[in-house]
Amino acid sequence: MKEVYGVIGDPVEHSLSPVMHNAAFEALNMDAIYLAFRVPPEYTRDAIRGAWSLGFSGLNVTIPLKEIALSYVSADEIARKIGAINTISFKKGVPFGHNTDGIAALKVLEEAVGDIREKHVLILGAGGAAKAIAFYLASAGAFVKIANRTAERAAEIASKLNASWTDLENLKEHIKDAEILINATSVGMYPYVENTLVTAEMMHHDLIVFDIVYNPVETRLLREAKKADVKMTIDGVKMLVYQGAAAFEIWTGVEPPKDVMERAVRNALSDL
Ligand code: NAP
Repeated sequence: MKEVYGVIGDPVEHSLSPVMHNAAFEALNMDAIYLAFRVPPEYTRDAIRGAWSLGFSGLNVTIPLKEIALSYVSADEIARKIGAINTISFKKGVPFGHNTDGIAALKVLEEAVGDIREKHVLILGAGGAAKAIAFYLASAGAFVKIANRTAERAAEIASKLNASWTDLENLKEHIKDAEILINATSVGMYPYVENTLVTAEMMHHDLIVFDIVYNPVETRLLREAKKADVKMTIDGVKMLVYQGAAAFEIWTGVEPPKDVMERAVRNALSDL
């Protein structure tokens, strides 16, 4: 029988997960399908239970359900520490939550930069993605500083991670001390593509700039970074692929073809 996977969220119609996972299923000749389901927050529990009772093989969870979904599943220790999940498996007899965002960001950075131990990293944002990334980078030995519009949220994460925090004032000064700048806010995301928290004159030549926003692929922040002639820029597509690949492996035990998934995502984004 065909295996069914899906992503729940609201809104979810623009999710690239179906394109990405279906490309992997096709490449591996698997009899499986991945669909997107719009689920308002008040139906999160019903949706998870429903998918479980209908025999779904796995779920992803996206905005704005990543935190609330954690209340309705058992979860691994890391997901519980982060306080959010993006993946649910049903293999252990109960819905079981995982968070693959942080490990994906860490892998992307390690591939691009090498060991990130003792690197000074400034993370913009204190939402679900920022929290997961901060957790993994701090665990890998990076010196993490979190800057957020709502400073209390940054302070709350920092207190759990031995990280430092700030609001968005004087960002240029904080960037001076940073080797890696990560935008983990939604600023710059479609349709507000001209927005950025950081412009070229706030950057320096030794900076690596990683924007986890992937729609558009080249955000205003990345364009500013190129203008400033920074050391390296990294877009959000690889992280999207790596978090999806980690979920795929949790569900199936099979390592999916990441190159196929990345091509499918970049093609879909170029058609938007
Ligand atoms: P979230 O939980 O809603 O957090 C949003 C963050 O953005 C918060 O820190 C928020 O600050 C900040 N923010 C929003 N509007 C702002 C503004 N106008 N000025 C300053 N800060 C602002 O969202 P999330 O799940 O962490 O996702 C954040 C972004 O990452 C989204 O664009 C998402 O698509 C992307 N993402 C990419 C990947 C990937 O694989 N590449 C994975 C996950 C997420 P406050 O706390 O002050 O509200």
